[in-house]
Amino acid sequence: TASPAEGAQPTASSAAWLERGRAVIPGGVNSPVRAFGAVGGEPRFVVEAEGAVLRDVDGNEYLDLVGSWGPMILGHTHPEVLEAVTAAASRGFSFGTPNPTEVELAEEIVRRIDPVESVRLVNSGTEATMSALRLARGFTGRELVVKFAGNYHGHVDALLASAGSGLATFALPDSAGVPAATAAQTLVLPFNDVPALEAAFAEHGAGVAAVIVEASPGNMGIVPPTPEFEQAMRRLTREHGALLISDEVMTGFRASRTGWLGLSQMGDAPDLFTFGKVVGGGFPVAAFGGRAEVMAQLAPAGPVYQAGTLSGNPVAATAGLTTLRRCTDEVYATLDHAREVITGAVTEAFTAAGIPHRIGRAGTMFSVFLTDAEVTDYASAQQQDTALHARFFHAMLRRGVHLPPSAFEAWFVSAAHTGDVLDRIVEAIHASAREITA
Ligand code: PLP
Repeated sequence: TASPAEGAQPTASSAAWLERGRAVIPGGVNSPVRAFGAVGGEPRFVVEAEGAVLRDVDGNEYLDLVGSWGPMILGHTHPEVLEAVTAAASRGFSFGTPNPTEVELAEEIVRRIDPVESVRLVNSGTEATMSALRLARGFTGRELVVKFAGNYHGHVDALLASAGSGLATFALPDSAGVPAATAAQTLVLPFNDVPALEAAFAEHGAGVAAVIVEASPGNMGIVPPTPEFEQAMRRLTREHGALLISDEVMTGFRASRTGWLGLSQMGDAPDLFTFGKVVGGGFPVAAFGGRAEVMAQLAPAGPVYQAGTLSGNPVAATAGLTTLRRCTDEVYATLDHAREVITGAVTEAFTAAGIPHRIGRAGTMFSVFLTDAEVTDYASAQQQDTALHARFFHAMLRRGVHLPPSAFEAWFVSAAHTGDVLDRIVEAIHASAREITA
């Protein structure tokens, strides 16, 4: 096994797998950002992960700052989660009937997130936002949806307009295959822009079913909402009879114990929430929930249809439930310490190297912008030096640290990002900053 060292790693086996993959999978990947399109080079094929470490098919080890894009909050292959999942799997993989574990997971979510009285489990964040939109449309009898530029809510047709990271990364303003009629039902507004929101409601208010917002956006880098913006979203949706959907797929149970909700200055809570990532602990689980009166519109209780063969899957729900129960205050303190150490090192190293930068932050979550302009929305996030990010990314990778392969992503830490792991990341940050400005 190669240790995380400077210099080129052997990557022949990853390259061979990529070639085999490309023959049978579009681009060789099952989610576009994994292809390294924004940073160049070729992705590593990982065969094993434990704690903060990824191991690839060539035997290289990497300290992981992606965390499977958010779910691995306890670190990879956490022993308690592994034990619970193994025990659950030994009792059966999927029953197609109600099961106790899905009820316990729903109870855990409802217990932790006050305004969520009732919750439905699904298999991905995309399903959660798609279903929340249908529910909002069914509840209000309206069709228009307001979203914000740079906010990503999964690959839902209606929400694939100006959707941040993956799309920002590939510079596609939109996706082919989305019907014009569907896109026409979505209003895209600049984020953190109260006058734009007021103007949209003044013109279209009576037709708006919902405003959907990333609770604190993480898909254009971390760009928290201003309190004024949060309060305007709540006030205007109320005044015009629209629902407010807070997408906490990324922030939920991660930005804080109670997600962004625990940090928000909105005052009154949103009507609906979507969760994913951490709620599945690395398995395909997501959820949407909110006020009982709204959720009661869902089938079988109400007329809004929504379903899933594997929804509430007992093995996946066990992973989510065990992960959430293990997310103690101590875990959030550990994440916050890791955030502080890593962002401190970035600030110090980048300042010394003369690299313009800003840190985005939402509770325990953070990202690094390679710009010296203040970042408050998608347009300012796009001022970044993405070419410099690509060089930094590869300098870190060569030193055995796996960053998100895009300048528009959060860096994800876990409860395993402590001690020696942090020391090695800090060292790599300093060395990489020097290298890219040498
Ligand atoms: N919403 C937000 C805020 C996300 O960050 C993501 C995924 O990154 C999604 C929705 C979509 O979730 P999934 O990839 O599980 O479909």
